[in-house]
Amino acid sequence: MLKTRITELFGIERPIIQGGLMWIARAELVSAVANAGGIGFMTALTFQNPEDFRAEIRKCRHLTHRPFGVNLTFLPTLRPPDYPSYINVCIEEGIRFIETAGRNPEPYMEQIKSADICVLHKCTSVRHAIKAEAIGCDAVSIDGFEAAGHPGEDDVTSLILIPLTRDAVKIPIIASGGFSNGRSLVAALGLGADGMSMGSRFVATLEAPVHDNIKRALVSHKETDTRLIMRTLRNTERVLHNAAVDKVLDIESKGNTKIDDVIPYVSGLVGKEMLSNGDMEKGILAAGQSIGLINDIPSCKTLLDRIMDEAETVIREKFSQLFIVS
Ligand code: NAD
Repeated sequence: MLKTRITELFGIERPIIQGGLMWIARAELVSAVANAGGIGFMTALTFQNPEDFRAEIRKCRHLTHRPFGVNLTFLPTLRPPDYPSYINVCIEEGIRFIETAGRNPEPYMEQIKSADICVLHKCTSVRHAIKAEAIGCDAVSIDGFEAAGHPGEDDVTSLILIPLTRDAVKIPIIASGGFSNGRSLVAALGLGADGMSMGSRFVATLEAPVHDNIKRALVSHKETDTRLIMRTLRNTERVLHNAAVDKVLDIESKGNTKIDDVIPYVSGLVGKEMLSNGDMEKGILAAGQSIGLINDIPSCKTLLDRIMDEAETVIREKFSQLFIVS
C-alpha cells in the first residue's frame, strides 16, 4: 500500500489510474482496474446515447464494489454529443469522479459540482493546469508529449511538465504520458506527481475488450513506432504507425487539409471496427511511446501487483542506499 493525496482523494489502495480510452474503457476493463486496487475511468462517449452509458455504469457496479470514475472528453468530434445528458446520468447513477479532457470544462463545472462530484481535469500544459485549479477542479492529470491520443500542440515531455505543474498548482497531480511500470511510478512521484495514469499499458491487458491482434501489436512495436497525425488541423493525435496513418500523413503533406479529407481513415467508427476485428491496417489506434516498454499481456491484477513490487524494490534498493550517511 502506498498512500498519496491521490489514493486519499479516490479512496483507493494504489496511486494508479486508467485514464479514458475511447471504445476500450468499458465495464470489463474499468472494473478490473478497480478490483486490482487502482481506479479506472469509463469513457462516456463510447456509448452512443446516455441510456447505453447508464447501463454500462450499472454493469460495472455488478463487477466491482470499488470506486471508479467517468471520462468525458470535449475534443472536436464528428458526432457532437449532448454533454449535459451524459453528466446527468453520472449524477443520477451516483458517480463520484469525472475525468474531463480535451477542452476547458468550465461550461459544465456548475452542473458537475452541483452534485459534489470530484473533477480530475486531464490537460497538456501548465497554463491549462493553473486554469483547471482556478475553476475548481480537484486534481489535474498532466499529459506529456509521449502520451497516446491527443498530447496537445506544445510538444513538452512529462519530465518537464510534471515538475513545472507541481510548482504551479496546489491540487494533486497525476503524471500521464510515458508511464507504464514500477520505475515509472517512482519517477512520477519523484517529479512531484501524486500518482500515475496509464493508457496504452492497460490496452495490453487480458481484460481490455479488444481483439488480441491489438494487444499483440502493442507488445511487438517499439517506442519509435508511433506517429503524429492531424498536426495540420491543430488536433494532434499520437497513434500506432500503420497503412491508414501513412495515408493520413500523405494527405496532410499536400497542405490545406480539411477534416473531411481524412475522415475515411481517422473516423472513430473505423477505429472501433479495427478494435473488434483486429485488422491492424484499416483504422487509427492511439498509442503512446510507452509501447516500447510493453512486453506482455497480463491481467490488471498481475500488472498492478508487479508495478507496486517493482516500485518498492526501486525505492528500497536504490534510494535507501543513496542516502546512507557514513
Ligand atoms: P470522431 O470519429 O468523432 O473523430 C475522429 C478524430 O477526428 C478524433 O480524433 C477527433 O478529435 C477528430 N476530429 C473530429 N472532428 C474534427 C474537427 N472538426 N477538427 C479537427 N479534428 C476533428 O472520434 P471518436 O473516435 O468517435 O471519438 C469521439 C471523441 O472522443 C473525439 O473528440 C475523440 O478525439 C475523443 N477521444 C477521446 C478519448 C478518450 O480517451 N476519452 C480517446 C480518443 C478520442
